[in-house]
Amino acid sequence: SPTSSPEPFENESIRKPLPVPKCLSNRAATGEKGMLAGGGACTPYPRSFEAMKLACPGMYYTYAKTIRKEIMEGLRYILQTKNQYTFAYHGSGSTGTTAVMDNLIEQGDKVAVGVYGHWSSIAADIAERLGANVIRLKKPLGSRLTLEEIEKALSEHKPKVLYLLHGESTTGILQPLDGIGEACEKYGTILAVDLVSTVAQIPIEMDRMKIDVVMMNTQKAIGGVVGLAPVSYSPKAIAIIRNRKTPPRVYQTDVLEQAREWLIEEPKWYQVESCLHSVSLALLHMLREGLANIVDEGIENVWARHDQSSRYIFDRAEEMGLEFVVPVKEDRLPGTLLVKCPKGKDAYKVTGYMWDKHRIELSTGFGPPTIGKCIRVGLFGENARLDVAETIMDALKDSLSSPETNA
Ligand code: PMP
Repeated sequence: SPTSSPEPFENESIRKPLPVPKCLSNRAATGEKGMLAGGGACTPYPRSFEAMKLACPGMYYTYAKTIRKEIMEGLRYILQTKNQYTFAYHGSGSTGTTAVMDNLIEQGDKVAVGVYGHWSSIAADIAERLGANVIRLKKPLGSRLTLEEIEKALSEHKPKVLYLLHGESTTGILQPLDGIGEACEKYGTILAVDLVSTVAQIPIEMDRMKIDVVMMNTQKAIGGVVGLAPVSYSPKAIAIIRNRKTPPRVYQTDVLEQAREWLIEEPKWYQVESCLHSVSLALLHMLREGLANIVDEGIENVWARHDQSSRYIFDRAEEMGLEFVVPVKEDRLPGTLLVKCPKGKDAYKVTGYMWDKHRIELSTGFGPPTIGKCIRVGLFGENARLDVAETIMDALKDSLSSPETNA
């Protein structure tokens, strides 16, 4: 009839939708429960994990303003810094690496990157993609840079930025930072450091150590899940960024835009508290509670707990006759045990057995030099306890002695 309703969809392709994906017709299979003690995300603090379920009142209200302020204070506390520009990007640690490079680098700038494993090699690649003239300070597997090597590179190349990983989790290396801040100051270089594998595990005093910029993620010793990338920029770094000739390439991670989002600077529009991008209150809750957990315990106690459980796994590994990827004891990254898979054993079968029999997730290494050839235990945050360390090493002993894990 002339009054019949119009066709709901004119577009032929919408009238005939694709078949319903059957795999989505039930609730998500949430996975089996177990202990996460490998390289990546580790078991979160229950308080931080549960916080994601808290009601989310909306991102533009006063509450979102409060929670961000609390996060900034918590981050300053774990970094021992007074830096105003201390906040968190949405994304994972890699977002933080890219953002830090993008904010510091302009086309052709010289950037020296310490390369001693997978993540440090990726950092150098990121800088190159952003147009930097990259100087790779390469070290062979299981070793790190000396202060003398760094000073030599600084005096020779006078880079704008020196980017180092404090902990290279894929090779189990700890890169000491003593004296590097002073050396960078001497040559007018900005010191940027990846603290993903060391923050809230070993003592870090960002201001005293003269580190200009740091980046982290939320799924290791901060005790949360993947989703945010905390960063801190010193006043010196901010002054250099303000004097750029060209803006950073990525709008969303521009530190000066983020500073308005986090209310470090005046917001762009009167009374609007979030104008850069939508924020995830679930993730902000997660980070806030992870930090609150550390504050409750006290950072010195958190460092001491990590030190104790880390020493335990290292001693047990030695007792078990396992060969460390890093031969020099002092160069080993605390909390990250990286040992070669023993002869006659299959690394994947060892980790498979650990999960099947003990519900403990370990990894077999990460990146070409170690993947499938090593066994990696990561003890951070919630898992950095003697009883947990003992459980893991007992289970590893069982796994390595089982004929089921033979190559
Ligand atoms: N740097 C280091 C030292 C890492 O261990 C990792 C991975 N955990 C990253 C950077 C990248 O972080 P994400 O996986 O959170 O992107």
